[in-house]
Amino acid sequence: MVKNPRDNPMNRAYAFQKAPRCSATSKRTGKPCQAPAVRDWSVCRFHGARGGAPKGERNGMYRHGLYTAKAADKRRRLRDFLVQVRETIAGIS
Ligand SMILES: [Zn+2]
Repeated sequence: MVKNPRDNPMNRAYAFQKAPRCSATSKRTGKPCQAPAVRDWSVCRFHGARGGAPKGERNGMYRHGLYTAKAADKRRRLRDFLVQVRETIAGIS
């Protein structure tokens, strides 16, 4: 009789084992980190997840929001859209 290794409680597969893994490479071993990534981040808590200053109005240097990442992204997307529109218009005429 062949025993299924999954029947052994030590070989069970748990849901947390399928969690997304850290995308960082270990400085020490040169291999992928493999630790579970923090939710909504691509890296684990050891590799810089949740680091940095607070975003937006919670930041102490906040003045008017012109240079926030959100505002810069909005301008970037508008610029890309305008480039597309100009290319489309150039293609028609
Ligand atoms: Zn990591």
